[in-house]
Amino acid sequence: MNGLIFQDIHALAAGLRRKDFSALELVRAHIDRIRSCEDTISALITRTEELALSRAAAADARLAGGDAPLLCGIPFVLKDNICTEGIPTTCASRMLADYIPPYSATVYARLQAAGAVLLGKGNMDEFSMGSSTENSAFYPTRNPLDISRVPGGSSGGPAAAVAAYEVPFALGSDTGGSIRQPAAFCGLVGMKPTYGTVSRHGLVAFASSLDQIGPLTRTVQDNAAVLSCISAPDGRDATANRTFAAAKDLFSGDIRGISVGLLRFPGDAADPAIRAAVESVAAVLADRGAQVREVRLPALSDALPAYYILSSAEASANLARYDGVRYGARAEGAASPDELFCSTRSTYFGPEVRRRILLGTYALSAGHRDAFYLRAQSAARRIRAAFAEIFATCDCLLCPTTPTVAFPAGEKSDPVSMYRGDLFTVPASLAGIPALSLPCGTADGLPVAAQLMAAEGNDGLLYRLAAAIEEVRI
Ligand code: GLN
Repeated sequence: MNGLIFQDIHALAAGLRRKDFSALELVRAHIDRIRSCEDTISALITRTEELALSRAAAADARLAGGDAPLLCGIPFVLKDNICTEGIPTTCASRMLADYIPPYSATVYARLQAAGAVLLGKGNMDEFSMGSSTENSAFYPTRNPLDISRVPGGSSGGPAAAVAAYEVPFALGSDTGGSIRQPAAFCGLVGMKPTYGTVSRHGLVAFASSLDQIGPLTRTVQDNAAVLSCISAPDGRDATANRTFAAAKDLFSGDIRGISVGLLRFPGDAADPAIRAAVESVAAVLADRGAQVREVRLPALSDALPAYYILSSAEASANLARYDGVRYGARAEGAASPDELFCSTRSTYFGPEVRRRILLGTYALSAGHRDAFYLRAQSAARRIRAAFAEIFATCDCLLCPTTPTVAFPAGEKSDPVSMYRGDLFTVPASLAGIPALSLPCGTADGLPVAAQLMAAEGNDGLLYRLAAAIEEVRI
């Protein structure tokens, strides 16, 4: 049964239907894998073994009935900022260490309705702030491909779980790169869909105008299948107004006539090996009939500061709810409500979360708002306009996902060097457009990734191109 863990979702779904193995056997194989890997990788904060076994039995009954959905019986992990009724949801923060949500996120409800089986909640940077999972208040996660290195972040736990074959897919959340960058560091396919494609009801908010949930998988087709399952308009999230449905012909490999812009980034600091790998992706696309040309978008030079100002400003507002009164942890012995508020927050928020709240509060404060918040907003508007202009003449953009491969744990101790690593991922977040990261080679034995971006709503096009690239790579 051990070979089971190495199969992708589509192969597993076929095996379940042929009765080569049962959902219970499948889930047990993954539980065994989790038991043998977790001591080294620490991808998970909470494991849900017992619940998973009972769900697997239910999945078997449904499969026996004959018309089960594709994901029925397939194990998965959720990032620990996605609410799961009755199961701890900590955001890797001491503030929410004991929080058990009384309701489930829409994405979790949809996966459960499809019969997929939750095996655990993935580690992350506290409240999704970070790029290495070293900001988890509990413990760091290791990169399964080289345990001296980080898995990326903030969805590092979900990514490491998929890369270590603990589960065939996971959901992460992406505000400025938190699905794409860990996918890049762990050799996976990671998708940040168009803003509004997936409901955030039950996702603990970081920066609401940017947050999106999306899948981490080992293949392009699996990724599209998971996105199809979780995507739908939702009355509980007024921003969720789109549906993604994976059409079969997406994976034909036919990309003739699609125009691709090889994006030369202002201030591009990507390692030469990464640049070379992305160039070879461009060559593959051209070879298969896409029209490739170089493009430049000078407006992107402001993306990184604009992202850090806007996301921190929104975070400072969203995180004001953890006040020691309504929910979350509460400090002892405060003499007044003000003192309770301050001591709760300084005791239970980690240093990066406190830094972002300070940064955001400062950027919004009287006297500094014009210089920071409003300037960042106008930079974001310019970035959106620049993308709209380029997508009038070009279907898709190609660039690296990250400037480096997975870096050694502990290497980036100052925040700004960590922030710089988000250079390539934040523009798509600011513009609300879909962006997908996929492996495109290795450097020093570690995965290198390419990022594809398209106009709002063109999520399917990214899968079409990614499938063509994946075919050649394999
Ligand atoms: N690394 C970025 C940050 O720290 C992105 C995080 C995210 O997408 N949640 O803000």
